[in-house]
Parts: sequence; C-alpha cells; structure tokens
Amino acid sequence: MIRDHFRVLVMDLAAGRGRVERHDGRETVAGGSGLAAWLFGHYGRPASPWNDPAQPLIFAIGPLTGAFPLMSKTVCAFKSPYHDQYAESHAGGRSALALRMADLDALVVTGRAPRLSCLALGGHHLELRDVHFLAGKPVDEVGKVLRRMLGGAGHRSMLRIGPAGESGAAMAGITVDTYRHFGRLGAGAVMGAKNLKAIVVEGDRAFPLPAGKDYPKLFERVHHQLTRTDMMHKYHDLGTAANLETLNGLQSLPWRNLRQTADAAIDGVSGRRFADDTLLRNAACAGCPVGCIHVGFLREKFMEPNQYLYRQVSYDYEPIFATGTMLGVVEAPAVLGIMDTVEQMGLDVMSAGVALAWATEAVEKGLIDLAQTLVPLQFGQAAAYRQAVEHLGRGTNDFYRLLAQGALKAAAHYGGGDFACVLGQEMAGYATGEVFFTAQALGLRHSHLDSGGYSFDQKHAAYTTAEALDFLVADEGGRVLLTSMAACLFARGVYTPTLLAECLEVLGARGLAAGLADVARRVQALRWRQRLATGFDPHAVTIPERFREVTTWKGPLDGERLDALMAGYAARILELGRPEQDAPV
Ligand code: SF4
Repeated sequence: MIRDHFRVLVMDLAAGRGRVERHDGRETVAGGSGLAAWLFGHYGRPASPWNDPAQPLIFAIGPLTGAFPLMSKTVCAFKSPYHDQYAESHAGGRSALALRMADLDALVVTGRAPRLSCLALGGHHLELRDVHFLAGKPVDEVGKVLRRMLGGAGHRSMLRIGPAGESGAAMAGITVDTYRHFGRLGAGAVMGAKNLKAIVVEGDRAFPLPAGKDYPKLFERVHHQLTRTDMMHKYHDLGTAANLETLNGLQSLPWRNLRQTADAAIDGVSGRRFADDTLLRNAACAGCPVGCIHVGFLREKFMEPNQYLYRQVSYDYEPIFATGTMLGVVEAPAVLGIMDTVEQMGLDVMSAGVALAWATEAVEKGLIDLAQTLVPLQFGQAAAYRQAVEHLGRGTNDFYRLLAQGALKAAAHYGGGDFACVLGQEMAGYATGEVFFTAQALGLRHSHLDSGGYSFDQKHAAYTTAEALDFLVADEGGRVLLTSMAACLFARGVYTPTLLAECLEVLGARGLAAGLADVARRVQALRWRQRLATGFDPHAVTIPERFREVTTWKGPLDGERLDALMAGYAARILELGRPEQDAPV
C-alpha cells in the first residue's frame, strides 16, 4: 500500500550517521522525479558548487515501485559537475526494488567521508565501511570484492564508481548492479567528491500488498499488456540495437564525429549482426518481464597461447552508436571491447565516445597530437580507442582531464568548438533534425529521453515551429508523470494516465490518482525551477556549427528553423519554470 508521506534516509557521511525523516507531499509530487526535485529544493544549495560536501546526492523511487512491472527506475538528482546546475539521471537494475524493500522512498547523501568508503544500508542497518584499498579499482573488481566482503543476497543492489568518478570526470557515471547506469551528467564524480566508492542497499523488509482480488486482477492485466502484445517485442528481440539500421536508412545515424549520417558499413554493427555474432543472453531489471538488456560476449586472448578470456558486455543502440559508428569502428566484437573498457572505467558511454570522436577530428585537423592523446587516435582504430578510454577515465594527463569535463571544455583550450558534437552534453545518437537538436540542447537532462524530439523529426516532413514547441512541452509533461512514478520509459505506451490512476487507486492512493494531471504540471515546473535556480540560462545555449552541416532524409538542416525552435523553446522553459507555477508542497 502507498503511504501518504515519504520515508527518507538522510545520511551525513562526515558524521558517519543517518536518520530517517518523514516528509509530506505524496499527493503533490508523487515520487521519482517529483520527489527528487523537491528534496533538492529542501537539501540542495543552488548557489554553492557541485562538489561542496553539503550538496545532496539524491536517490528517489516512485509510489508504484515493487507493485507493478516496469516500475523499475530510481531517479538520481544532484548538482552536476558538467555544468554546475541541477541534474537528474535514471537507472534500473535492482536499485528501486531494494530501496522499496528497505522501506525507503528516498536516500539523501550529504557530506564527505573522511576516507574512501562504502555505505551499506537496509531496513535494519546503516554502516559506513572504509574501503580505501579499492581506490582506483575498476568497476567489476569493486563489485567482486564488495560482494565477498558484505555477503548477503536477495534484494540487494550495488551502486559503485570506477576510476573516472574518483578522478572527478564530469562524464563519470554510477554503475548499478551489473548492466545499468546513472550515466549522464557526472553523478559518478559527485560520489567521488563525497569519497564514496559504493552504496549497497539491502531490501531486508517486507513490502505489504493489498488483500482481495482487485490488485492481482489489475496486475495480471498490466502484465498481459506488457508481455503478450507486440508493444514490447521490439525491446526483447533485437532490442534497441535494431535502430542502427533504421536510423542509418533515414540518414540520421551519426558517423565519424557526425561528418556523415549514413554509411554502407552499417552491416558490421547492425542489431542483427550483434545478435548473430555476439549475443549470449537477455537480462532484466528487477520486476521486469521484458528483459531488454542484451548481453554479448567478448573473447580475448589470455596470457597463455590458445587460452581465452570471455567477458560479458551489455549493448544497446546508444553504446553502439557512441563507440561504434561515431568512432568509425565497424566490427561488433571491437565495439564491445571499447564498451567494456568504458564500463570498467565507470564512464558514461555516450559522453566518452562522442568526446573521443571530437578528439580524433582535432588530431586530423592538427589541433592536438600524440603529446596530448598519448595513443594515435584514428577513426576505426579500436585498440587505440580502448587505451584512450582508460586515459580518459583515469585522467592520465592535462588533456584527458580536460576532455573528461566535456568536448567543449577541451575545445575552448585547443580549438575545434565548431565540430564538438555537444547538445547541452555530448550528443545522443539521433541526427534526426532540428527538433531533436533543440530538444537535447535545451532539455532538462540534455537526454534523448526528455521528450520524443527524435520521433517528431522522423514523422513530420512539414510542421510549424509552434506545433513542434507544443509537442516538446506536452511530451515532456507526459514523461515527467511517468518518471515521477519512476517507470521505465519503454512502458510509456502501456502506462497511460488512466492506467496509472487505476494502479494508484488499487494501492489506496486515491487522492494522488485523482490529481495526476496537476502532479505532472507541478513537477514539470518544479524541475525547471530547480534548474533555473542553479544558473541555467536557456537563451545562452548555442549549437555547434557541425549540427548545421547535417543532411537527413529531409535534406540539409534548416538553420533558420533551428534558430526559431531554440529561441521559442528557451522562452517556453522560462515560462514553465516561473516560481508561481509551482504550488507549495
Ligand atoms: S524494459 Fe529494459 S530497461 Fe526497462 S525495466 Fe525492463 S529490463 Fe529494465
């Protein structure tokens, strides 16, 4: 059943103590994105830098977590090292269910631990363990050591950082369990700044569900829609990797630092190629019957002759674009190899791949050379990219430390800002046109998931600027409602507002169910208010020249349309984030 308040564990790492606080507001912000933004308003320090120890690192789940399938995400909120503004990142795995089973709606971490530490918590325990011996260790090794050290099993989730988080890389992520990530905008560096190598959540409490027939009946209906209709097949079968061919066919797939949007070499990295040559199995987040996570195998020569090491690496559309087509690497196993190194360093894969694509073109243009890159960067040369990823993660020299803050930061020093593929942060893999470029450049998370701008581009040959802006604002509002439930956005076609209201009602949250439209509007405004309060000026955002050189299925990009969309969306964001639009909580 859903509580009418939030149970929030607030952990002060400096003091080594935590307390559970009770906060009202279930009917006004629901949970997930709404709760995270509200908690940042309560604990955050908008005017202080991201690495001020007092800044909170927030993890929030939703009211339906654990009760319905695909309610699997945890929302992480923080002040980002990438732009020093409010940021959100979402991940699944077992994190949400473990928090639910620990009887928590959110975890807020403040302070800085005196030594590199692991925070272990559950419904009955809270402990800060010294793990200084894990300094600089890659992600998989940290996982192995902590599993041995902490024991336990069941509903346990492990969040951890690699060397990138410790080195302060603004593109460092947090790895969740084995194959999920709080990837974008540098949550890993926030953990590193707090001297926190890992957080282990143990779901060791019971989670009451309603008696009677209504809940199981509704659960069965939702489960049926998610599994026995066509809706979810595409995510399970070839998975999102199927988009490689589709987007290449639409001249919308970024290749070699976005100098091309299609290439005949797509066969080497298509979804079918990955499935035929590398796929080992599918995996799933806790509570998900879909299993969209595709795990490929990587075979590498071991020390002895004729001995091989097999590693399991998860792949998706986005990682393949970032470490494959964007770097001109067109053999599936070689792409998996780069992804594996990215994973071990604890870097965000999209940011790392796109930043290295910029660096490669900067080498070609003579702006940097081996003195900076240490390895010869050249499109298609996978072995060098694997070494470069390690340098990027560990911050080996001044160049890599700067590049790890973002390609535009490196370009400000070395030149080459015109070909840095940055839309608020390193681009996602959609060169679909003006609407997507606007949506990512100005979206709150600078994510392709903020709104369906890429889809609008693909479906509309002709549209007015106002139609596109109305779409972006409305679509963001719909997604904010889902992320306040902490749902997987792959289920957005199933979890309509009507179905969400039914799910909430059956769990006893009638007031929340009746007010979902207001919740969506309020949370959309609240998130923007947090972003604006931390310094975001949407009118100051510019789009590098490379994006204006793109040709898609619609022809050359329309620069005037792009400018009109950017100006119009910036104005809408300022309107959305006006303080008075956010009702008091
Ligand atoms: S569809 Fe994929 S990302 Fe979404 S909950 Fe299921 S396994 Fe996780």
